[in-house]
Amino acid sequence: MLKRVRFLFTGIVQGVGFRPFIYRLAHRYSLSGFVQNRSDGVVVEVEGDAGDIEVFLEHVSQELPLVASVSGIRSEDLETTGDRGFRVITSEKTDAMEVHISPDIATCEKCLKELFDPEDRRFRYAFINCTNCGPRLTIIKDIPYDRENTSMECFPMCKECSREYSDPLDRRFHAEPNACPECGPQLWLLDSSGRKIDTPDPVERAVDLISEGYILAIKGLGGFHLSVDAGNDEAVKRLRDRKFREEKPLAVMVKDVTHARLVSEVGQVEERILRSPERPIVLLRKKNGILSPYIAPGMYTYGIMLPYTPLHHLLLEKRFNALVMTSANHKDEPICTGNREALDRLNGIADFFLVHNRDILVRCDDSIVFVPSSGMSLVRRSRGFSPRPIRISEPLPGVLALGGHMKTSVCVLKHDMAFLSPHVGDLETPLARDFLFKSISLMERITSTRPDCVASDLHPDYYSTRLAQKLGRRRVVQVQHHHAHIVSCMAENMVSGSVIGIAMDGTGYGTDGAVWGGEFLLCDEASFQRAGHIGYFVLPGGERAVKEPWRVALSLLREAFGRSWKEIATGLSLVEDSSLLPVLEAVIERRINSPQTSSLGRLFDGIAAIVGLRRKVSFEGQAAMELEALARLSEGIELGYGIVSQGDKLILDLLPTVREIAKGMLEGIPREFLARSFHETLISAFADMALSLAASTGLGRVVLSGGCFQNRILVEGLMDRLTGKGVDVFFHHLIPTNDGGISLGQAVCAGYRIKNKA
Ligand code: ZN
Ligand code: ZN
Ligand code: FE
Repeated sequence: MLKRVRFLFTGIVQGVGFRPFIYRLAHRYSLSGFVQNRSDGVVVEVEGDAGDIEVFLEHVSQELPLVASVSGIRSEDLETTGDRGFRVITSEKTDAMEVHISPDIATCEKCLKELFDPEDRRFRYAFINCTNCGPRLTIIKDIPYDRENTSMECFPMCKECSREYSDPLDRRFHAEPNACPECGPQLWLLDSSGRKIDTPDPVERAVDLISEGYILAIKGLGGFHLSVDAGNDEAVKRLRDRKFREEKPLAVMVKDVTHARLVSEVGQVEERILRSPERPIVLLRKKNGILSPYIAPGMYTYGIMLPYTPLHHLLLEKRFNALVMTSANHKDEPICTGNREALDRLNGIADFFLVHNRDILVRCDDSIVFVPSSGMSLVRRSRGFSPRPIRISEPLPGVLALGGHMKTSVCVLKHDMAFLSPHVGDLETPLARDFLFKSISLMERITSTRPDCVASDLHPDYYSTRLAQKLGRRRVVQVQHHHAHIVSCMAENMVSGSVIGIAMDGTGYGTDGAVWGGEFLLCDEASFQRAGHIGYFVLPGGERAVKEPWRVALSLLREAFGRSWKEIATGLSLVEDSSLLPVLEAVIERRINSPQTSSLGRLFDGIAAIVGLRRKVSFEGQAAMELEALARLSEGIELGYGIVSQGDKLILDLLPTVREIAKGMLEGIPREFLARSFHETLISAFADMALSLAASTGLGRVVLSGGCFQNRILVEGLMDRLTGKGVDVFFHHLIPTNDGGISLGQAVCAGYRIKNKA
């Protein structure tokens, strides 16, 4: 029977080779009709035998291109027209926007082969790409995703490129960034004053310069990297001195998995993620050897990634085992994207600049992944992942969520999809705040929405909270920080209804004005009850205590030991000058700028100081990461703790733990043993708390979130313990457990609150 059917495919179906794929399938089943990109999706009309059309549709889902993803198919029967042949017709703009912009995709195997084939016309051409790979989000100006809406607009294609672009059977059919050495973008090398360096091969010259120990700024996909030879101590040290004056680990790029294995442990899952088209940085356990010790001091992991652009492949082809590839920015500032901007902002850091003339229109940092036993979990969700939407369990009203203050991202909720922006970062500087604005407008543009509702944190002093008030949307919904954490994890796991949430975190504003961060919540998507928390301790000097863990240590010792705390503190050499002790005591007792906190992050800092790891930190989480690295060197035992019922709350008293650790240090017990024991104690204590809440409420689902669960010992131990007791435990995969996921939690929470009221 002859039939004509119109399909509308929505999801990531543009810029991923979907139309040529449809074209080939239609040919295979001798169907006539057409395929067309529209802003509401891809329309396919097919005419032919009814059975063939059915098989055609089956194969659409079975053989879908690697990076495409179909989120919806609508179909409609039409009158047959006697159509002959199958055509690809030009894009049409409609009002409804159901097309999702694809993330950027690492260079594919076929393109790589051409890149290194001396016979190919794109031999060693740094901008090679096809419908299956190349830049996407980072080059878009507007939707639909067509060449004239990208930064490739200014490169008219040569004859040969146009031919590929318009041939439905070519693997570059409608590859919007398609280019070749004749017609496409070019590379060149600049010195630090912006003067062009005369060289026939900028890549070769750049490789020479890196070998000689220079620092290069290299323009990438979503921003600039700063690069040095990762085996060259002097160069790595110089980069640190010039860039940070701090100790954050530096990301490293290696040529392939074999090279990754030279420097780190690579399991099966890790290997798959390293090679994936998203190409994130993967945190891998260090092997001692060829990398400079200045790459990731004090950490037990390296951040390793494989090349994801043709330029990276060229740079790593011969000379280096590994290159440092760290985001080119100053502390707290977003990564550089423009050539001029890089010369300005990296002045005094980079010796040379390897740049090109394909503009980066959307800033996008490298994504970061860690792999606990529960599987992949994102630490930073950006290039390769954003703006791929997260599907949530039911359609909700539109919301724009602004996230928190640190590591923030923006989220737009539309129907049953949540779209997270690339990583925005810490909102400390005017540049970062400007980037927040740009991210809001980007996400609204690519989702074609302007939600009535803005969601924000509860913290009155966060820049994002104040901005939410100022945006002038119809309604503002404030969501408590740790509730947002838990809801973000529920959302990505499609968990609905009442759960026990364990939020272990740095800091978040609590409803009682205290600094929360060790929370046990009974909650659903819309509301929560604080069922328990880590016992409060004083944070002497507030924000200063975050940078100076010795202050937290003293406060903990004072709570734990009462009057004898000063001797203990002196015995542990926590202060350089003992006259500081009475001063600090006064600060704590009079609570001068010293809030109470239940933060596990701060407790980690305090314990790290007590075991003598460090008195000060240069970035948040540093002490905790080093404590975990230390704990990995030893077995441990469970130390004392208490659970006290106080009104309607359970208070987890960890002062006995603090006491045992401090005494242990004074008795000369190895600190790695104490560090491990601290971890083991937390696992038992958190499991106990969760199980007693489960018993009293009858709830059997526990949801874990918050920055402290980037600690693998903690998250793996707790999941094992709870699963062993028959509890369903949920953890993050696609959304960061740190504050990078807050915006999703805020958006979903706000969506449910509006929906419940309506
Ligand atoms: Zn390709
Ligand atoms: Zn060309
Ligand atoms: Fe947080």
